[in-house]
Amino acid sequence: MDGTYTMKNVPANFIAGEWRTEPETMPAVNPANGQTIAQLPKSSRATADKAVAAAKAAGAAWADTPVFKRAEICVAIGAAIDAAREKIARILSAEQGKVLAEAMGEVGKAADGFRLASELVKQMGGQTLPAEDPTKLVMTIRQPRGVYGVITPWNFPVNIPVEYLAPGIATGNTIVWVPAPSTSLVACALMEAIDSAGLPAGVINLVIGEGATAGDAVVVHKDVAAIGFTGSAATGKVIAQRGAGKPLLLELGGNGPVVVFEDADLDAAAAAAAGGAFFNAGQVCAATGRVLAHHSIADSLSEKLVAHAAKHVLGDPFHQGTTMGPLNNAKVAAKVKEHVDDAVAQGAKVLYGGNARPDLGSGLYFEPTVISGVTREMRLNREETFGPVVPIIVFKDEAEALDLALDSEYGLSVGVFTADITRGVSMAKAIPAGIVNVNAGSTWWEIHLPFGGGTGTKSGIGRLGGIHTMEAMTELKMITVTMNHKLGAA
Ligand code: NAD
Repeated sequence: MDGTYTMKNVPANFIAGEWRTEPETMPAVNPANGQTIAQLPKSSRATADKAVAAAKAAGAAWADTPVFKRAEICVAIGAAIDAAREKIARILSAEQGKVLAEAMGEVGKAADGFRLASELVKQMGGQTLPAEDPTKLVMTIRQPRGVYGVITPWNFPVNIPVEYLAPGIATGNTIVWVPAPSTSLVACALMEAIDSAGLPAGVINLVIGEGATAGDAVVVHKDVAAIGFTGSAATGKVIAQRGAGKPLLLELGGNGPVVVFEDADLDAAAAAAAGGAFFNAGQVCAATGRVLAHHSIADSLSEKLVAHAAKHVLGDPFHQGTTMGPLNNAKVAAKVKEHVDDAVAQGAKVLYGGNARPDLGSGLYFEPTVISGVTREMRLNREETFGPVVPIIVFKDEAEALDLALDSEYGLSVGVFTADITRGVSMAKAIPAGIVNVNAGSTWWEIHLPFGGGTGTKSGIGRLGGIHTMEAMTELKMITVTMNHKLGAA
């Protein structure tokens, strides 16, 4: 790590307002150099159960806490995160592998997330509704669901948790949060900031451990009312089965195309597609999974993409001038290499990069890569690669572009570049993705806007973002009153 980080509390679980160690531990590893930077708890199912009990015990008082008080605490948490921003960002870089500038941006957005929740929750109301029966007064109110289980991945290990934690507590739920093992030290740092803002004990509980143990214990627990999960489609499926019957928010993988038509602004398209492929070393669910390029502009677009790739400096995220760090873990690094090798074996051509770079400090560095001649059968087209790779697939006309865009099991986020706005919107309506950005890349999103997978795809269920998460994390209750009182009757 760059400089010594001293956490006030040892890396530990945070349960019922206390930092608690666990007999079994697992290492937190810096992906840039393979060094162990801390020992983390490897929690048992029994520990997860204790966290659920703590969340349940805190539930009634927190649900009864006035909305304005809950909002005030969210504002205080935002300020605490701001105050600890650089400290959290340094741990984020050291444990996740992203460059410090990106880490600072992520932590800043996390503070914004708590402030956004504090604003929106004050405006969250129900309705009064008409009824056929004239004696009925019908109203709806929104209530917390209870104990939320929140399970999060390692690619944005500060922002993604906050997408659940902030709206979850603002709306009166209590939470048991199980972060990804490979980014759990930064989870402790975020929890420490949250705790410093005066959150009552038990409202958010942090349990560090393996998903299949600690995470699963939370998913199946009878006192966990609902689950918020961001991660892979494969784990999402397991959670949907194990948590069957509970309200589920599932934010899963993607392989979004960026479609570039012949009339597009190629400079803008190349910048957006490259940005979406190389940001966070491509470990983004909404990343540029593939570029679909009209044959007449494919060569010129490829050159521009190569020029963007060539600007990147791969290296230790703390080194001056580095713009792209290592991948986070061995599993994702192996997958990226396999996808590139599979494409090359089937005849695709590497225009730039294409290699792992163990000489840079660990086995997790992979060069920013541009590959042309990608076809439908290749894994780069069919699966989520989750690395810094731009696969270019050429199409001959609009019909083929649409067909290629539709030929995916995923449907998260898409970019379409064209000067013809009606063509752009028609494509947007036809593609079953949760987000289609016309004349922007697949990664464009802001935290108050709806984000999620299209129906019928593997990309998830429900929407995150602003009020959408708050609606998902609350119960819509209808209350009726029979009004048969005749005023003034004797
Ligand atoms: P993953 O599915 O391997 O793990 C996600 C989390 O689930 C981790 O905390 C893990 O410990 C836990 N987990 C694993 N098995 C579990 C089980 N049986 N029960 C309960 N929890 C379990 O995903 P990952 O590799 O950490 O993250 C990358 C994936 O996340 C990619 O597919 C990416 O597209 C997706 N993602 C989606 C979004 C979105 O908003 N749609 C955002 C970021 C990442």
